Parts: sequence; C-alpha cells; structure tokens
Amino acid sequence: MMIQKGNIGITTENIFPVIKKFLYSDHEIFLREIVSNAVDATQKLKTLAGRGEFKGEMGNLTVRVSIDPEAKTLTVSDRGIGMTAEEIDRYINQIAFSGANDFLEKYKDDASAIIGHFGLGFYSAFMVAERVDIVTRSYREDAQAVKWTCDGSPAFEIEACDKADRGTDIVLHLADDCKEFLEKSKITELLNKYCRFLPVEIAFGKKTKWEDGKEVETDEDNVVNDTAPLWTKTPASLKDEDYKDFYRKLYPMADEPLFWIHLNVDYPFNLTGVLYFPRIKNNIDIHRNKIQLYCNQVFVTDQVDNIVPDFLTLLHGVIDSPDIPLNVSRSYLQSDANVKKIASYITKKVSDRLQGIFKNDRKDFEEKWDSLKLFIHYGMLSEQDFYDKAKNYALLKDTEGKCFTYDEYRELIKDNQTDKDGNLIYLYATQRDEQFAYIQAARDKGYSVLLLDGELDTPLVGLLEQKFEKCRFSRVDGDVVDRLIRKEEEKSLSLSAAEASSLSGVFTARMPKIDKAEFHVETAPLGEQGAPVVITQSEYMRRMKDMSRYQQGMGFYGEMPDMYNLVLNADHRLVKEVLADMQQAVGSRLQPIESELKGLEARKQAVEESQKDKKYDELTDDDKAQLKQVNDDIEAQEKARREVWSDYAGQNPVVPQLIDLALLQNGLLRGEALSKFIARSVELIK
Ligand code: ADP
Repeated sequence: MMIQKGNIGITTENIFPVIKKFLYSDHEIFLREIVSNAVDATQKLKTLAGRGEFKGEMGNLTVRVSIDPEAKTLTVSDRGIGMTAEEIDRYINQIAFSGANDFLEKYKDDASAIIGHFGLGFYSAFMVAERVDIVTRSYREDAQAVKWTCDGSPAFEIEACDKADRGTDIVLHLADDCKEFLEKSKITELLNKYCRFLPVEIAFGKKTKWEDGKEVETDEDNVVNDTAPLWTKTPASLKDEDYKDFYRKLYPMADEPLFWIHLNVDYPFNLTGVLYFPRIKNNIDIHRNKIQLYCNQVFVTDQVDNIVPDFLTLLHGVIDSPDIPLNVSRSYLQSDANVKKIASYITKKVSDRLQGIFKNDRKDFEEKWDSLKLFIHYGMLSEQDFYDKAKNYALLKDTEGKCFTYDEYRELIKDNQTDKDGNLIYLYATQRDEQFAYIQAARDKGYSVLLLDGELDTPLVGLLEQKFEKCRFSRVDGDVVDRLIRKEEEKSLSLSAAEASSLSGVFTARMPKIDKAEFHVETAPLGEQGAPVVITQSEYMRRMKDMSRYQQGMGFYGEMPDMYNLVLNADHRLVKEVLADMQQAVGSRLQPIESELKGLEARKQAVEESQKDKKYDELTDDDKAQLKQVNDDIEAQEKARREVWSDYAGQNPVVPQLIDLALLQNGLLRGEALSKFIARSVELIK
C-alpha cells in the first residue's frame, strides 16, 4: 500500500550526485553515520524504558551489520525505537537546506563539514549507494511497519510493509563503483576504525573457527566493539594494568607508556579521555601513533591538531567530547570558544600531572626525563603558559648525569661561573665523547658542564637566554677555557707581537685544506699544563648554523663553511720550542724583513697622516702613487716573510704533528690525512 510519494524537501535539483561527487574522498564515513544512527535509536529505546515509557521486552539490542554480495547490499539493522511514517517524513524527508549551493561550493573538499552542517548523516549513504531502503517499525504498540525507498533523486516513496520486529533496517544497494563495501575485510576494517568503542554491541556476522582444516561459522555473534572502553570508567575503579592493557589495544606496536592522565570534566564542557606519555625512542615514532578523537564513543578523527596544542599531539591516547564541533571545517575549529577552553584545560592537566610526579617522586621523574624532555621543551618553546609552569620542574642535566631544576642549577654555578661583567655563564656540551677534552678542561677549572644533546636544545638555549636574567650559554669548545668565562683582565702574552705572528704564520703555512672548514690561527697563554694546540669554534657562528636548520630564510648560514680557531698555547713547552727552533733556523732571514716591515709601516702611517685631510677626489696622482708604492712594498715583504715561514714549517715535523693532534681531537682528521699522521707518528717513535 502506498502511503506517500513526494520530493525530499531540498531546494537543490538533485543533491545526491553532488554529495557523491564532492565527498568522494571521505565516503567511507557513511558506515559510521549509519551505524551510529542505529546506536542512537537503541540508546533512545533504553532511555524510554528507563522512564517507563516503553514497557515491552527489550530483548537482544545488538546492532547487526551484514553484507549480501549477490544482492549487492549492505544492511545495518537495529532493534531501537524505529520510526513511524510521520517520523520518516519529519526526520528524513524534510531536511532544511538553505543556501545549499553556496555552502557546497565553499566546503566541497570537506565532507564532514557538509554532512554536519546539513544534518546529512543519513544521506551520506548516497555516497556509496544508488538506492537506499529504510524498513522500520516503531516501538509504539501496534505501529505499522513502513518502507521508504529513494534512488538518489529527490523523489522518494513510502509504503506499508511487513516487519515482525521493532527497529530499523537500513539497506544500501551499493553503486557499481563502490563494490569494495561488499568485502568482508573492508567492512571489518571500517568497523574497527569507526565503531570500535561504540556503546551498543555491534555484530558483523558470526565468529568463525577452524574445523577439519577449514573455517566454519559458529553460532556466536562476531562483536566488533568494546562497549565500555577504559576512558568511560571511573579512575578509582582502574588499575595500572588496565591502563597499560588499553594502551596496547590502541597501539599494539608501541612500547609501554611512561604514565597517563585520565581526563574527566563536565563543566564548562564535557570531555573524557586518557592521554599517555609515550616512550620516545626515535623521531620516526613520534607521529605514527596519534591521539584519537571520539564523540560519544564514535571515532571522529586522529587529526587533533586544532583541538590540542601542538606539542601535545606528541601524546597518545583518546579524547572523547560531545562538545567539540566535529562536523565543521578545520579553520572554524580554531576559533571555537569551546575548543580553546579544551586546549587550555588539557595543557593545564598535563602540566599538573608532570608537576605532581616531579613533586611526589622526583627520582622517577628524573629517570623518565630523557623521554619527557622532548615534549616538555616543545611545550615550553611553543606555549608561554606552559613555560611558566614547566620552568619549575624542567631539568638540566650535567655531563655526569646529575639533574637540577633551573633554580638549583643557578645556585650551583652562580659563584664560580659569573664573568667580570656579572653575566652568569652556562657551559654546555652537546656530545660527551667528542667534546671530552673540553669538558675535562672546564671541570678542572671547577666549572659545571651541562649536557644538551636533545633535539630541541638549540632553540631551548635561545629561549632560556631570553628568560634568565644576565646569562649566556657557551659551548665548552667555543673558546679556550680561560676565555669561556672571562674573569679578570686577560693574562698578557709572554711573546712579542712579531713572535706571535711568526708562530701563527708557521702553523698557518702547514694547515691542511679541509672541505667546508676554515681555520684562523692565533696564540694565547693557556698555561703550561694546557694542551699545546686547541681548536675552538665560535659560539655565534655555530649557533647560526644550527638555527638555520630550524628556521626558514637562514639557509645561507647552513651553506657557509665551519669556522674554527686554532689556538697555539704560548705557555706550552712544545710551542716555545718551535719558536726557539725557528729563530735559530731562520731568524737571520726573518730579522731584516721584520725591520724593513717596521720601517714601511711607519712610512705608510706618515703618508696616510699627510693625506688625511683630503677627500679621495682631491688626491693628486702623486699622492695616490705614494700610497700605492708603500702598500706594494709592504705586501712584497709580507710575501717574503710568508715564504720564510713556509720554508721553515716544511722542515719542522713538530708543527704538522701538533696540528694533526688538535684536528684528531675534534674528529677533523680523516682519510689520507689520518693515514699520513699515523705514519709520521710511527716515524717519530723510534
Ligand atoms: P542526525 O542523526 O544528525 O539527526 P541523520 O540524517 O543521520 O541526522 O538522521 C536524521 C534522523 O533520522 C535522526 O535524528 C533520527 O531521528 C532518524 N533516524 C535515522 N536513523 C534511524 C534509525 N536507525 N532508527 C531510528 N531513527 C533513525
């Protein structure tokens, strides 16, 4: 019997092809929509029963999903409240649809936005079906069962039909290009993704067992979901093992989590969930396991970027909130007041939990620090609020593995590591083994050295320098130890300027060419016990290069060679011997050049003095020629001097040996140069 024939109340000529076309990429969510409607109808029946408005037998309320490859149908059946013909008309036929075309145009790439905006949950079935039947009977006594059919045009039909049981069957006649949804494995996958924690049992066929070498069906329903997932339970009823089990369920491949936070708020918004702090072993893992977002136990997404602050996306676990507007576009989410509140609530919870562990079990906190620090530092760098809280429990670790809070560390170093200008100098190493000698030298001075070997330590150092008053971070190999923390006026060099430049000249003459590295040779008094030659790398340049990895537009720093200082220890016996030996060997050749140079320098100064009041275009040709002559003469003498240095450097085996030792200590001696060094060392032993 035909009850009604008509057009669905939408203004667009034919909405279904539009839905299908635009929403293609996301079309698998139809299953979530249809199954969660079935779950809702079941929940409503339970509510009515609770209120005494439904007095009949509830019976088995399992929602059933089935596929019929022959008929090419996928059916979702429930035993919920069902619908009368009037209800179908009201809830299914009359869909409010204002400004549809504009909206569709705007959000055509965002299926969930369209579906949510129009309450199109049910209609998402038309993304995969060419015809949909609703066969339904209301829970009301003596209700007439009805069948609604629609083939994707706005035309529909409702007719009376026979249906013994209360509830609704949604039958999707799948379109030819959607046959994948007739595959058991595909439906299993989708149910597992979207329906895993729905609050009503969902059965997909029967469980199977192996019998006589083949798989046979049993009588038992194949229930695909856990109706009471961990986050819906009260924390008091749960043990650590429960949390760990649930974590394994969510992320079967992950290591055991460090700890977790059970979230539970009902004002000013509703939110439950469990967040886990993962053990992070390497960078690849970080974003593989994601936080999953649910709405009343229906899986929505694992892209929570706009809902939790960036740094918390490193956590794992589940968030469930009916108050997050799930079906709106991502850009809208960011400006939603509830979402903002949720983000700051979660940040606060996480921070409180960290603070709690730090306070109650500092030892445990220190042990977990290496896994925690990446994400605490990320939080401190990206959220001011988080920094303000975390600064009380964030740790600094020294090269011995001892941990300090920021305050404790300042106390520790403030007496010994303040320089003459009142700046507190934080010394740090980035690699314990490679920088061993520098760490040792600093420790011998009574300094403490931090180990900053984390992913985010470069930007963190920048942040802490801003936050701490009058402080600077210096890497231990940034300069020779006496100059890392400048205390009083520098010790004066025991050498004359000419001696110092001769030493530098001789060593420069023997510096090997190293790809992407440049060396500046200088002399400094580093004490008789200090190493004869030390290589340092300026903090500034190195940091610029490090930062260029994090920031765009700084790439050019990355292209530049590494700049090193090769510092000769003027106090060291070997260096002094080189100097003495050089004077002996080539002193008589150097001496006339030096005095010639002295004379020329004086001449140059006089010439410049005589010309200093003239602008460049007032200079006569004679003036210019005079200046050029003296400069040329100086250059010629310097060249001659370099030749002497170079001649000498070639005949003293100690010079390259000292250079190579310093290079070796910094991992800069490689390949052929290393082999030569070894051969030369063997030669020296005998
Ligand atoms: P929404 O679920 O967001 O309200 P839908 O388009 O998915 O939008 O469904 C429209 C309405 O149709 C539902 O609110 C409900 O009243 C009714 N409905 C859909 N599926 C069922 C079902 N399986 N049993 C009973 N009523 C249903």
